[in-house]
Amino acid sequence: MKRVMTEKMPDGRGRFGAYGGRYVPETLMAPLEELERAYEEARADGKFQTQLDELLKNFAGRPTPLQFAPRLTEHLGGATIYLKREDLLHTGAHKINNCIGQGLLAVRMGKKRVIAETGAGQHGVATATVAARLGLECTVYMGTEDMARQRLNVFRMKLLGAEVVGVDSGSKTLKDAINEAMRDWVTNVRTTHYLLGSVLGAHPYPMMVRDFHRVIGKEARAQILEAEGRLPGWLFACVGGGSNAIGLFYEFLGDANVKMVGVEAGGRGGTLGEHAARLAAASGFAGARPGVLQGTHTYVLQNADGQIATTHSVSAGLDYPAVGPEHAWLAEQVRAEYTAVHDDEAVEALRTLARLEGIIPALESAHAVAEVIKRTPKMKQDEVIIVNLSGRGDKDMEILAKYV
Ligand SMILES: *Cc1c(COP(=O)(O)O)cnc(C)c1O
Repeated sequence: MKRVMTEKMPDGRGRFGAYGGRYVPETLMAPLEELERAYEEARADGKFQTQLDELLKNFAGRPTPLQFAPRLTEHLGGATIYLKREDLLHTGAHKINNCIGQGLLAVRMGKKRVIAETGAGQHGVATATVAARLGLECTVYMGTEDMARQRLNVFRMKLLGAEVVGVDSGSKTLKDAINEAMRDWVTNVRTTHYLLGSVLGAHPYPMMVRDFHRVIGKEARAQILEAEGRLPGWLFACVGGGSNAIGLFYEFLGDANVKMVGVEAGGRGGTLGEHAARLAAASGFAGARPGVLQGTHTYVLQNADGQIATTHSVSAGLDYPAVGPEHAWLAEQVRAEYTAVHDDEAVEALRTLARLEGIIPALESAHAVAEVIKRTPKMKQDEVIIVNLSGRGDKDMEILAKYV
């Protein structure tokens, strides 16, 4: 089998080709360097790995199944479809993989407190959950607009012992919450770890968060070899920041015959402001070009003056103007392909999977399923594909009820 892309990424400065890096105020350089050192040490420490594996197994519920989808496969009449069931994890999505990893790292660094930002509240809930398990104090920053929309998740976080701080500035959503979390970190860095939720932000976050999600691809690779005796032809995953996608993709990057498709939020259409597709320009989604947002150089949705654009998606987890820098690099290398599906298509895919397989996926994951539904009928019957079900749909019932 042909192997490609064995080059180790990122480089020593946290760069994936032209992307990534560390674009932060001077005050954050020392904490980021401290974090990088601590992570490098932890990564090489067998005891840390043992603790991590134990929590992933007994607290989060790993390994997750790689499940054959018989009725979806028959319905589409093309390739054999497997579902990687991250939706079965504790708290309902892949996010817990990263939260456990960073939570353990915080303990190892002697920090007593973790802070996080959250949009829809999913990352906040996963962080509060791990903080409770590890006996860490937890503060979650959330825009007041998002708090009103996601009351149930605010209630969950409080029940888990976290303090939820409402952010009333700017658009009162995720990017304002990130700014407040940054301010807190600078002030309290001696006692506090900033538990970032996706493969975004300054080095070492994109690398570290990716590494904590690599378990998805490691398991999937062993499981598909066991089930089919060969590697898959295709991988599909939705891309918000890009953590569940890179978690699945990474172990297969060296296998030239494994094609990868990242699916972004196409929202209501290709006009800037109507979608959150950063890497899908070829599919007609306007407005993304390289820029710096929240500490990293990557593709960012922006207007002609460089103002960050507003975005739209039916799924909160994909609704963000920037994408993880490693995806920008994989897109440029044409190692992975990026496309986008519309709100309508994602909602329809959620219904299809629910009726045919008895699984209600998260609206985010439904984007990946929608792309599979589009492509599979044209594939040869002997193709094998894996689609990542990043989370379960319980959290989306109210949104769905309003949508229809
Ligand atoms: C947060 C979330 C996403 C998007 O985040 P990535 O970093 O792109 O994986 C996708 N699916 C679910 C279920 C989520 O909760």
